[in-house]
Amino acid sequence: MRLDKVLGNLGIGSRKEIKEMARRGRITVNGNAAFDSASHVNPYVDVLEVDGERVVYRQYIYLLMNKPAGLISATEDSREQTVVSLLEPEDEAFHPFPVGRLDKDTEGLLLLTNDGQLAHELLSPRKHVPKGYYARVAGRVSEADVRAFAGRIQLDDGYICMPAELVILNVEEVSSEVEITIYEGKFHQVKRMFEAVGKTVLYLRRFRMGNLELDEDLPPGTYRELTIEELSLLR
Ligand code: URA
Repeated sequence: MRLDKVLGNLGIGSRKEIKEMARRGRITVNGNAAFDSASHVNPYVDVLEVDGERVVYRQYIYLLMNKPAGLISATEDSREQTVVSLLEPEDEAFHPFPVGRLDKDTEGLLLLTNDGQLAHELLSPRKHVPKGYYARVAGRVSEADVRAFAGRIQLDDGYICMPAELVILNVEEVSSEVEITIYEGKFHQVKRMFEAVGKTVLYLRRFRMGNLELDEDLPPGTYRELTIEELSLLR
């Protein structure tokens, strides 16, 4: 790979900046100054240093975000603020994208990565990866609703959902707290499933995707890299 591509992917600088750094002898490859930023290196084998600091190359980045309400799950948008705008430049340099979508007003677990293969496997309709949500719903959720969700709910467009698990956490006069696990990812699915039983979702937060759980220590709007253990849970 070209040296400027390797360092550019790591967010060290633009191609022009890296060219200048190389020209000034600030970059070394295996201990020798690399004056030509277009030279080729093996980023996994060669020892790269910038200003004497070792640079470790990697291809993929995996970020666990607690998505806040108000942002859209996209990499760019002409009008709305996106979840990618929350990323530090050194993470954005890897060009991660959200794995699936949460609605603008939905909070919670959002995985961002540039690993297209993993994203494909998590989103494939054939894999039925479970997604767990906490929801506050207007009105009193009942055992009849639990049975309806375990059966075959029909959405407004005629789509028949796979069985979903609905667990009632708390029922109050005006609203109920529930957990729901779905095994597919249709547009606005949780909200539309509740609409199908005559109820409205007031608040929605995803707390699980596959075996990956939201880190409750991450305040909304923050993120961190997945640990090796968390990544292995997704594969
Ligand atoms: N279902 C919804 O209705 N909205 C989301 O954001 C996710 C699942």
